[in-house]
Amino acid sequence: LVERMRAFGTTIFTEMSALAVRSGSINLGQGFPDTDGPPEMLAAAAAALRDGANQYPPLPGIPALRNLIAAHEQRFWGLTRDPDTEVVVTAGATEAIAAAILGLCETGDEVVTFEPYYDSYAASITLAGARRRPVTLRPGPHGRYGFDEAELRAAFGPRTRLVLLNSPHNPTGKVFTRAELTLIAELCQEYDAYAVTDEVYEHLVFTDAAEPHTPLASLPGMHDRTLRISSAGKTFSCTGWKVGWATGPATLVSTVLRVKQFLTFVNAGPLQPAVAVALGLPDTYFSGFRAALQARRDRLVAGLTEAGFAVQPSEGTYFVTADITPLGGTDGVDFCRDLPARSGVVAVPTQVFYDNKEAGRHLIRFAFCKREEVIDEAARRLAKI
Ligand code: PMP
Ligand code: GLN
Repeated sequence: LVERMRAFGTTIFTEMSALAVRSGSINLGQGFPDTDGPPEMLAAAAAALRDGANQYPPLPGIPALRNLIAAHEQRFWGLTRDPDTEVVVTAGATEAIAAAILGLCETGDEVVTFEPYYDSYAASITLAGARRRPVTLRPGPHGRYGFDEAELRAAFGPRTRLVLLNSPHNPTGKVFTRAELTLIAELCQEYDAYAVTDEVYEHLVFTDAAEPHTPLASLPGMHDRTLRISSAGKTFSCTGWKVGWATGPATLVSTVLRVKQFLTFVNAGPLQPAVAVALGLPDTYFSGFRAALQARRDRLVAGLTEAGFAVQPSEGTYFVTADITPLGGTDGVDFCRDLPARSGVVAVPTQVFYDNKEAGRHLIRFAFCKREEVIDEAARRLAKI
């Protein structure tokens, strides 16, 4: 194994999902739903398999899917994309993130991102020979996670190549406000940096969030410097399909294409027409999905609060974070390793997503993208710890 990858062991998701299987626990660690996505999408995938859509699709993705990705961005976010030059289908958001960083960063370039960060960010930045400049998100007076403006400004410098922004944010459930995005946008322009936005939870912003989701690309001056990434996995409950996409100006999309052709070339031939069907579903699908997840969040938050955790508010995503201090916990890694034996429930320590481990030592993450009876059973088990 090359030296630069040695610090990266097994991802926490693999470790914790294996622990869940081994201990027979309820897995509220890795974020994947336990029900299938829309039946129209599943039927379209079955039909495509049967009808022979089983060979290499075109490099940027099949035209029908690119058209629907562009139409979806127009419909929900008012962003206009040319499906032929400004859209690329990728192997999940993960490949789009990796290809963007590998294609944009020279050795020694710096990537500003917020910690805790999704774990593939650190590995992709390292593979590119770049350096991460994390800005710490901390729970504020009302529990909402925020950041220090001076810390963000200090993270920018002459080597800043891009900002990698995840909103709605995994694991905190934070939805960045327009004021926060405006500051990020101003700094991108001041330092002539690109923005790569991970918006895989774009449809999971709850009605009690401080503000609705705003794509950074829609802010003044950002359209031409932002690559926007999303994925079918979360919105359509098909995390195993790994169908994602990137949209943005043709120059940035062609950067992703240049790298992608040698990472995977193409992916998910028979799943691409099915995701096109899903993206065209009526608004009621998207609002119903959001409402269902919000109800599950509320159920889990009630159970965690009852069990004695100090739950941090979650405005979106599949996740909620909780402070273990009131339960006598001091280190989330130890706490999560012991939790299956103590309660039969698996969670993830968010500490592993920070460079500054101290900031997240006492925080753990629970996923609520599960059936209500599963959440209720997890709550019953946790009530006994
Ligand atoms: N970004 C974030 C913030 C995520 O939570 C995930 C995990 N679903 C991904 C990217 C990866 O998405 P995909 O499975 O489409 O590669
Ligand atoms: N995105 C999911 C999570 O945060 C899982 C991703 C993974 O297993 N790599 O839980």
